[in-house]
Amino acid sequence: MKTVGFRSIVLYILLAVFIGGVGYLVANMFLHGRQWVMQPYNAHLSGQMGDIKDRDGNLLATSQDGGRVYSENDTVRRALLHTIGDTAGFIGTGVQSVMGDKLTGYNFITGLNDTVFSRMGSGLTLTVSQDACTAAYNAMAGRNGAAILYNYENGDILCKVSAPTFDPAFVPEDIETNDAYKGAYLDKPLSASFTPGSIFKIITAAAAMEKWPDSWSERTYECWGAENIGGSDITCLHGEAHGSQDMFAAMGNSCNIYFAHLANDIGGGALQKKAEEMGFNQSFDFNGVNVTKSTLDLTGANANQIGWAAVGQYTVLANPYHMMALMGAVAKDGSYTQPRLTEGGDIFSGLAASGDRKLMSAETARQLKTLLRGDVENYYGDWMFPQGMAVCAKTGTGEVGEGKAPNCWMVGFCDSTQYPYAFAVVVEEGEGGIETAGVLVSAMLQALA
Ligand SMILES: [Zn+2]
Repeated sequence: MKTVGFRSIVLYILLAVFIGGVGYLVANMFLHGRQWVMQPYNAHLSGQMGDIKDRDGNLLATSQDGGRVYSENDTVRRALLHTIGDTAGFIGTGVQSVMGDKLTGYNFITGLNDTVFSRMGSGLTLTVSQDACTAAYNAMAGRNGAAILYNYENGDILCKVSAPTFDPAFVPEDIETNDAYKGAYLDKPLSASFTPGSIFKIITAAAAMEKWPDSWSERTYECWGAENIGGSDITCLHGEAHGSQDMFAAMGNSCNIYFAHLANDIGGGALQKKAEEMGFNQSFDFNGVNVTKSTLDLTGANANQIGWAAVGQYTVLANPYHMMALMGAVAKDGSYTQPRLTEGGDIFSGLAASGDRKLMSAETARQLKTLLRGDVENYYGDWMFPQGMAVCAKTGTGEVGEGKAPNCWMVGFCDSTQYPYAFAVVVEEGEGGIETAGVLVSAMLQALA
């Protein structure tokens, strides 16, 4: 009897382990089925995927004879690589990975081959414009970086480009060893962060507007080109002395000394808090992808470090997708519309489209809009952009050290009901904010005009 009792206990334990294991498997399939469909070891399934088209009906990817075929135009293939994904599935953020279940007709209940519940290879129409993407890619002129632009009213991503890139139809043999392809699998608008430089002045300005709502525009600081703040110098670009600066002049001249003083009067804690309200150190999701965070940490920072952080140096990092959403929020009374890659929003990837998210007060948004419009009207020049777009923007050159040329940024939006576009562009080792990033933004907007 004793032995029988012992055996039944063993059987019960085995049964429990078995049920637990099946449960784990089912849960795992349910949670990760769509990723499983488009893993590198399941790449053969890509040859069963449906068509992918851009918003104008241009064919971006299709299946032929069990293989995956991309656009006939090699520039289109390179410019849209990170949005579409590669055949081997190494680009985990592309729609062929993230929406692999939809494209193959994979269904959790019926598997891959059921004809009643799932049709093999359903197609997808993306919100992106092939023309805007190729214009942005060409304007990068062989440099690396990220460009992303969306319609801040309906959420449509119109342009998303990452470089370095490669041709998915002819994957280079030396992709793993050639430094020119370092980071080629990375979708930088979503999965990278960069030293922001002066575009961070937008956040410092917002913190001042909320600290001194009635008097921020009257505050002035003197700039002599260089000043010892907190033990070492804060300098303006090329040591240029800007003289007495208020917020409008300091934004247009991109005066570091003004913003360094301003941030120290605001206080590191208040600046940190405002940056976090505006999305720094916060998570953003896009089309089933967890976007890389923008980060800021002023814990224990001295006056000099707070001064450099205020102008986007020190240890500050910014993600392009976040910067674009932030610009969408400035354009739209402080709340941004959730970006999307398909007209149905995020539903094909199994996620409900998230609601709009508030990043600042309507009043702060309105004031920032005036400030950023002034930059273009009075400093950069409306002539740079297509007529009637009323571009509001800020450039930045994030110094990265190691003898490298700076990250050149432009972030902004069009204050226009006809062209409700918000954008963020960063080009690595560029010449200057306007010269490099501004030219890229201009090319993107021309393609959409
Ligand atoms: Zn200055």
